[in-house]
Amino acid sequence: MKALGVDIGGTRVKVGVVERSGKIVSQAATDTPIDPEEFKRTLAGMVWEMAPKDGTLAGVGIGCKGIINYETTKIEVLPGLLRPLEGALLSDLIPLDVPVRADNDAKVALAGEMLWGAARGLKNAILLTLGTGVGGAIVAEGKFLRGVGGVAGHLGHVTVNPDGPMCICGNYGCLEAFFSADAIESEAYRAVHSGCVSTLTDKYRHNPETISCRDVFEAAAAGDVVAALIRDRAIRYLGAAIAGLLHVFDPEAVILGGQIVEAGPALLEPLAREMRWRSMGLLKREVPLLLQQVQDRSGIVGAAALVFASEG
Ligand SMILES: [Zn+2]
Repeated sequence: MKALGVDIGGTRVKVGVVERSGKIVSQAATDTPIDPEEFKRTLAGMVWEMAPKDGTLAGVGIGCKGIINYETTKIEVLPGLLRPLEGALLSDLIPLDVPVRADNDAKVALAGEMLWGAARGLKNAILLTLGTGVGGAIVAEGKFLRGVGGVAGHLGHVTVNPDGPMCICGNYGCLEAFFSADAIESEAYRAVHSGCVSTLTDKYRHNPETISCRDVFEAAAAGDVVAALIRDRAIRYLGAAIAGLLHVFDPEAVILGGQIVEAGPALLEPLAREMRWRSMGLLKREVPLLLQQVQDRSGIVGAAALVFASEG
């Protein structure tokens, strides 16, 4: 049997046919239409086009940003230009007579890791996606945590400093307001606007609006003191937040995904140190930090995992 995996992101919509082994056999992608009606037409068209018509399609799995009700596929909260879709059922947008499963994109990533990746066989695990924002998902005692309204697992919105910067969610001092590509870039802009002596300031003078999170990590690795301070502060907050989560969930492993993990040891080594000293007193063990193993970065494979996982 095969599943159709759909990833609905803020910039791209991706659809692919996935085998039970987790292999993508065909895929397509397009820019996310900003008009809700055009979005619905585009999604239905892509799904219809890609769906196997030979009776081998077991279902459609959808990963979507925001808060998605897994039971009903209802879009509860969808920040950004597609906000008018809030309240819609994703299953209503799929023109096929097969089961439709939908969940938040980070939860979908953990579903993929549970079937084919780093969370295989684990009963207690936490996943964080470290990108523009911070997504999260939790499996506890073998069960996916979704909560009453599908909000459970939004680890980017754990408060790490009650007096911190305002977050997209309206709270002050969420993890995501300290550690995320957006937060690290904001901090870098604050430094260059203040005229701090840094290679980032030189780069900004030559070409404004181009400082990225990757630039900060690269400048820090090259010995830039300001960039290193920004990087290290962000990692300290992430480590403190994860240490708190270790005390709450006592997981077998923490799984990291998202583009910032490409920083490699410059992120992972100080992060592991921060987590260890903050949690060793009660846990008495080191919790492994694993990287996401499902190689597909499109979200298609994880979305398909919703279908295969529900088959049992
Ligand atoms: Zn928040």
